[in-house]
Amino acid sequence: MKHLVIANWKMNPVSTEDAIRLAKEEDMRDVIIAPPSFHMPSVRAVIKRGALCAQDIDPIDALSGPYTGAISPLLFKKMGVRYAIIGHSERRAHLGETDDSIAKKVHTALTAGIIPVLCVGETSEVRAGGYMNARDFVLRQIERDLDLVRGGVGKLIIAYEPVWAISTNNNDGGVIDDSESAGEMIQNIKAFLAESMKLWAQYKIVGLYGGSVGVNNIGMFLKERSIDGFLVGGASLRAKEFKKIVEIIHS
Ligand code: PEP
Repeated sequence: MKHLVIANWKMNPVSTEDAIRLAKEEDMRDVIIAPPSFHMPSVRAVIKRGALCAQDIDPIDALSGPYTGAISPLLFKKMGVRYAIIGHSERRAHLGETDDSIAKKVHTALTAGIIPVLCVGETSEVRAGGYMNARDFVLRQIERDLDLVRGGVGKLIIAYEPVWAISTNNNDGGVIDDSESAGEMIQNIKAFLAESMKLWAQYKIVGLYGGSVGVNNIGMFLKERSIDGFLVGGASLRAKEFKKIVEIIHS
């Protein structure tokens, strides 16, 4: 299987012109671009090879209607979007996202035919308790976040993103996860989903790693067989570095 790469632009860039420029540079096969929603139509208009991902969805089971401020997965789908990030740690930390709201979003996305990219990962406090503590925390998150889609079929992308490794800008010597431990965590996640009394065993699971992936560390993560791809934040705003990362992944 080819590695998947998702470019999570977060709340960047500000101008539509910059978003279009970035999209054109990052438009490559097996690359999925997740721009802010307000740039989605402009980005869609210039994407020819890659695919599109929402950074969040609202758990609304309708294409239109009286839902002020909402963007449902069906509406994203109509816009040509195939994936949606759900439960990113920044939304959990700053925007009141809970396992309950995430579970509803995962369910609504799958029902609408949007592939969820569920983000999970432990904080530094949890990790301070050791790897096994972190593993139990992550598996509990997954259990709660997938609670409403037990027994279903389809594709689920799980992005393991240790919170303490996100946006630490590895090129300046920040903190990144040890690739072996990241690979082991993703292996544990896959085993849990395959075995958990067969609740999620029918899903095709794709396991991504995210947390300061950059051109200087992608090589070591690529050695981990359990890692099927990457969620790239900061480096996806630097087109030259991002293209190099994708080149290394696909070489
Ligand atoms: C992210 O926030 O999903 C992410 C992986 O960000 P970064 O690459 O900047 O750590």
